[in-house]
Amino acid sequence: MQKVLQQLVELQELDTRLDELIEKLGDLPETVKTLEIQIDNEKEQNSIRKTSIEENDTLIRSNAAKTEDLTLKITKYKEQLFLVTTNREYDALTAEIEFNETAIKEAEDQVLQSEEENERLNKAHEDSEKNVEEMGKKLKEAKGSLAATQKETEKEKADLEKKREVSVKQVPRNFYSVYQRVRKARNGLAVVPLMRDACSGCHNRVIPQKRVDIYKKNQVITCDFCGRFLYAAEEKEEE
Ligand SMILES: [Zn+2]
Repeated sequence: MQKVLQQLVELQELDTRLDELIEKLGDLPETVKTLEIQIDNEKEQNSIRKTSIEENDTLIRSNAAKTEDLTLKITKYKEQLFLVTTNREYDALTAEIEFNETAIKEAEDQVLQSEEENERLNKAHEDSEKNVEEMGKKLKEAKGSLAATQKETEKEKADLEKKREVSVKQVPRNFYSVYQRVRKARNGLAVVPLMRDACSGCHNRVIPQKRVDIYKKNQVITCDFCGRFLYAAEEKEEE
């Protein structure tokens, strides 16, 4: 195989592996970040819920106290009813009793409403806590995988980068710039084997003359359609 082509194949192998390592990490940081945001949001929602629950509890207590107070008043008015001497006094007391009874009813309705709301809020709070716990587990897992992958790939990545540095120096500049340009344009793949008479990058057929040249290995051939460097696949397996 021609030396330049061999160097290009080697470079492509290193870059493909480096891409794989980056891709592997690519998902995990995103997962960790998303989970952290979701957990924060959930916790914030829960803190709002908790404040509402406390406000409702205060409302329940104050309305219960109010009811107690009004009940005492009514009892007093009812006792006074026995002592009145005029119809006017009687009517005034009866009106007062009715007024307070209405106020008690309102306070009781308010308590009921607050209790119902708290029941709903407490349920949501409980569900949310479970959700946070589950997401927390997932986050821990993702963080663990991320750390493990980073640790596991760190050495390989550094090793590949070192090899790449050496490899790049061996490739002639003009070929290297084509390689970089095609790699960028073609989803990271700039050097591909010829397979079943076609470019394995874009699957277009390679004309017979070019195929002959590829097998002769005395010049560097590129695909007419995608611009990728082509090499004879069989040769690689024999190496
Ligand atoms: Zn092609």
